[in-house]
Amino acid sequence: MAAKKFTVLIIPEGSHRVRRFSIKRGALQGVITAGSILLLAVSLLLVDYIRTNIDRQELHRLQAQSNAQQQEVQSLAASLDGLRKEMVVLAQNDAKVRVMAQLSPPRAEALAGIGGPAEEDAASRFSDLQQRIDEIRQAIDLRRESQEEIRGVLNDQRSLLAAKPQGWPIKGWVTSDFGMRNSPFTGKRKMHEGLDVAARTGTPVFATADGIISKAETAPGYGKLVIIDHGYGYKTYFAHNSKIFVKVGQRIKRGDKIAAVGNTGSSTGSHLHYEVRRNGVPLNPRKYL
Ligand SMILES: [Zn+2]
Repeated sequence: MAAKKFTVLIIPEGSHRVRRFSIKRGALQGVITAGSILLLAVSLLLVDYIRTNIDRQELHRLQAQSNAQQQEVQSLAASLDGLRKEMVVLAQNDAKVRVMAQLSPPRAEALAGIGGPAEEDAASRFSDLQQRIDEIRQAIDLRRESQEEIRGVLNDQRSLLAAKPQGWPIKGWVTSDFGMRNSPFTGKRKMHEGLDVAARTGTPVFATADGIISKAETAPGYGKLVIIDHGYGYKTYFAHNSKIFVKVGQRIKRGDKIAAVGNTGSSTGSHLHYEVRRNGVPLNPRKYL
């Protein structure tokens, strides 16, 4: 088929007139090429249009997402602000308790100077949030430290209170006070280092503070003797007992029964000889009743 010319016939329906065109081979090729280029161009435009449309939808979705995130960040900032205010109140309470516990004021507060308007761009808003979280965490650490210090002080005070002799070791009547007196045995002036409380033999004797039994045996002059070591330098002596109910090393609470009154050792009648010593020095038990 190497024709140089083509003939195109157009026959309209219901008409007898037939149109006829002659077209050269080169021209036909030109028409086909132009048509192909046009088709390609239209296809490319269509693809581009579809892609743009998809991008626009994606943009809307991202914008909505960004708005939602911005709101979340704002509500996060608001709740951090609430936390910060609570921490400030806690710090104030802590300072009051420290005054009561006679402790020095706490270290400088991290929360004192923060707040102010929220940052504009997302990056600095985020680092602002991070900073607030760090400051609150720091404040929590400070509170924890302070609470432990306060607890330590209160524990010490409580142990000292439990260790300090307090109250009567026995029900009875005082027959001889602490201080210088004429010895009932030699008649000479001599220091009486305790308090004598008379009671029937067998009357229970009670510990006057928490401690550990450091002696539970017969001793010269003292008879059947119980000594309790209370710590903080305090010791109490219970002498002339008829019976001892405790053993060396035993832990004792204030009010525990430790012995029964008697007349053992250098004694002229059934009574308890009660001593309070601190760092070995006899003190007037009257001040600890
Ligand atoms: Zn005595």
